[in-house]
Amino acid sequence: MHFDVVIAGGGAVGSAAAYFLTADPGFRGSVAVLEPDPTYQRCATTLSAASIRHQFSTPENIRMSQFGTEFLRRFPEDLAVDGTRPDPAFVEGGYLFLATRAGLPVLRENHALQCSLGADIALLEPGDLATRYPWMRVDDLAGGTLGLSGEGWLDAYGLLQGLRRKAIAQGAVYLPHRVVSVDRAGRRVRSVGLDDGRGLGCGALVNAAGIGAPVLARLAGIDLPVQARKRSVFYLQCPQILPGCPMVIDPSGAYFRPEGQGFIAGIAPPPEQDPECHDFDVQHALFEGLLWPLLAARVPAFEALRCGRSWAGHYDMNLVDQNVILGPHPDLDNLYFANGFSGHGMQQAPAVGRALVELIVHGGFRTLDLERLGWRRILEGRPLIERNVV
Ligand SMILES: Cc1cc2nc3c(=O)[nH]c(=O)nc-3n(C[C@H](O)[C@H](O)[C@H](O)COP(=O)(O)OP(=O)(O)OC[C@H]3O[C@@H](n4cnc5c(N)ncnc54)[C@H](O)[C@@H]3O)c2cc1C
Repeated sequence: MHFDVVIAGGGAVGSAAAYFLTADPGFRGSVAVLEPDPTYQRCATTLSAASIRHQFSTPENIRMSQFGTEFLRRFPEDLAVDGTRPDPAFVEGGYLFLATRAGLPVLRENHALQCSLGADIALLEPGDLATRYPWMRVDDLAGGTLGLSGEGWLDAYGLLQGLRRKAIAQGAVYLPHRVVSVDRAGRRVRSVGLDDGRGLGCGALVNAAGIGAPVLARLAGIDLPVQARKRSVFYLQCPQILPGCPMVIDPSGAYFRPEGQGFIAGIAPPPEQDPECHDFDVQHALFEGLLWPLLAARVPAFEALRCGRSWAGHYDMNLVDQNVILGPHPDLDNLYFANGFSGHGMQQAPAVGRALVELIVHGGFRTLDLERLGWRRILEGRPLIERNVV
C-alpha cells in the first residue's frame, strides 16, 4: 500500500493536518493517518486543560492562537458532515494573567505586543481587579491582563473528533497502527513499518506523534529534543460561586478556571521534581503541598474546596525553548515535524495543521510565516524563548 501523505499520530495536530490536506483544492493525493489508540485515552489532546489564549510573548504563538479562535468560531459550520454540526463547546471566558510588581514590566511588554497584533486584551490595575473579582485577594498584585474576547476553553475531545470525522468524510483513511520503523533512502523517507508487520509506502511523512515523536524521529535517524513531562489536572468543588471567573494564571504559576459545576487547576512541579515521565499517576502530593495553598492564598473561598476526579497527561516538552518544532529537518526532504508544543499544542493544532499542508503542498508558508519555528533555530542553538509558558 502507498499513500501520498502518511501522518503518524491522529491527535489534534495529526487530525488537523489531515483535515486541511483533504480540504485543499491544490492537493489531489491520498492521506493515511496512523493512530494506534482510536479511543484517545492517553493522548495529550484529550487529557489537556483545553484552553486557548492570545496572551503569549512570541508573535507567531499569538497569531497561531488567533487563527485557532477564528477556526473554533467557524467550527460547527466548516466541519459539518452530512448536515451534522460538531460543537466544540467553545466558551470565550478569557484568560487573566496576574502580576506582582516584579512581573509587571514583562506583563506590560507582552500586553503591548499582543495589542499590536490585534488581540483584545485589557490591562487592569489592582483596583480594577478588586472591583471585577471581589472573591480574589489582590493586595500583593500590581496588575493583570484580561482577554476580553477570543480566549477561553473548549471540549478538546469534541475538537479532535470533529477534525477526524471531517477528514474521513473528505477522504482521509485512519488506520489503528503505530509506526515502528522508518525506511530512509538518502534524503527521503520511502516507507514506514507498522506494528502489524506491514509496510506503507509514503510520498511524505508527518511526525505528529506527541510524546511518541522523539522515538519516531530516532527511527529516521534524527535527534528530536523533546521529552514527556507529566502534568496533573485537579478537579475542584468549591462551596462558593466565583462570578465572572476566567482562566486565572497566578504569578506563582498556578492556574484555575471554571469547569462544569466546579473548577480545574494545575501547576508545573518544581524543575528538580519534573523528570521525563511516562506514567499517569496523579501528583496528589503536589496538590496538597503546593497547589492548594497557592489557590487558597489567591481565593480565600478555595480554603474550603474539595478535590474530585483528577487526571494526569503529558506535555511534549521541547527542551530547547518550549516552542513547537515545525517543518522538515535539513537532512530529510519529506519528513515533516510538528512536535514539542510544551503545553500549548491543542490551541495551535488548527494553525499548525494548516501550516504543515502549506509546506507539503505548496513548498512554503502561505498564510502565517512560521519560519522561525523551524529546525534551524534548534540546530544553530538560537532558542526562540516563549515567556508565557503555563
Ligand atoms: C495536562 C495538560 C494540559 C494541557 N493544557 C493545554 C491547554 O490548555 N491548551 C493547549 O493548547 N494545550 C494544552 N496542552 C498541550 C496539548 O494537549 C498538546 O500540545 C496537544 O494536544 C498536542 O497534540 P498532538 O496531536 O501533537 O499530540 P497527542 O494529542 O498526544 O496525539 C499524538 C498521537 O500520536 C500517537 N502516536 C504516538 N506514537 C506514535 C507512532 N509511533 N505512530 C503512530 N502514532 C503514534 C498517540 O497514540 C497519540 O494519539 C496540555 C497538555 C497536558 C498534558
